[in-house]
Amino acid sequence: MGAVPKRKVSRHRRGNRRRWQFLTAPQLTKCPDCGELTLAHRACNQCGKYNGRQVVAQKTVDDEEE
Ligand SMILES: [Zn+2]
Repeated sequence: MGAVPKRKVSRHRRGNRRRWQFLTAPQLTKCPDCGELTLAHRACNQCGKYNGRQVVAQKTVDDEEE
């Protein structure tokens, strides 16, 4: 006999070990405005736009839209 587990792994311990298998990676999409990778269904982190609309105020120096 080779290496044999000393005791049974309980359902909880087995599931706890495998919990990472059920995680999903964040859905990343390219921003249509600046092309930056951002979270889907969120305003873009770079330009603050969502659905072609400015939804988050930008802190950039070159602010043309105002
Ligand atoms: Zn963007």
